[in-house]
Amino acid sequence: MRKHLGVALMLTLGGCNPEPARPAAPAEAVDYVPARARMVHEQIVARGIADPRVLEAMGQVPRHEFIPVGQRGEAYDDWPLPIGYGQTISQPYIVAFMTAALAPKPGDRVLEIGTGSGYQAAVLACLVAEVYTMEIVEPLAQRAAADLKRLGYANVKVRAGDGYHGWPEAAPFDAIIVTCAPEDVPQALVDQLKEGGRMIIPVGSRWGAQELYLLRKTTAGMKRQGVLPVRFVPMVKGK
Ligand code: SAH
Repeated sequence: MRKHLGVALMLTLGGCNPEPARPAAPAEAVDYVPARARMVHEQIVARGIADPRVLEAMGQVPRHEFIPVGQRGEAYDDWPLPIGYGQTISQPYIVAFMTAALAPKPGDRVLEIGTGSGYQAAVLACLVAEVYTMEIVEPLAQRAAADLKRLGYANVKVRAGDGYHGWPEAAPFDAIIVTCAPEDVPQALVDQLKEGGRMIIPVGSRWGAQELYLLRKTTAGMKRQGVLPVRFVPMVKGK
């Protein structure tokens, strides 16, 4: 049984990681593979996400590894989960929806604001060349960086800091994903997007309605399209 699990985990993690050499996955008492496959079919494909690369990434990344041990039984359920420090990991469908909306390409360099658990960054790491991710809660940034490293996602760089200002040294980016909600789109993020680049971002008030916007930077300015009503934790302004 254990041997079978080991093989399953290798298959699950393989193909998604540019760095073949990494520590072996720890022996697991629970086989999460069937629950993950069900998640992809019942929550994501059934709701109309069809991008095969996104579906493959969602089927490969071990979401339970980014969730506190006591709650791993719910790792593949259809809702967000607490990850400590008053923050949450998004519902799987929202992760898939936002990832697909970005139309990620293998050569892309992507900026994420709101690392949280690191799960969204891991999904992106399967799909693009480089992921830069920023988290304002320092212990969360540290934990996500350690988890991403442990799981072999070598093409992700994590920085603790205020994502409102973006990551100017690594700009420009092909795509930007924001997983906390500011009241307006931060200008620094617009500036750090390449022409032709895409940004997916929830915008709205802390208590009221938020809308997920897909923005595209064109020579004629930013084109903005509302794509989904959502509820994210607010983007906190640092000092
Ligand atoms: N993408 C995450 C979930 C994000 S929850 C995942 O896959 O798990 C939103 C995160 O945004 C929280 O961890 C919160 O601390 C962070 N956040 C809020 N304001 C921020 C800011 N100004 N800069 C960077 N991160 C911020």
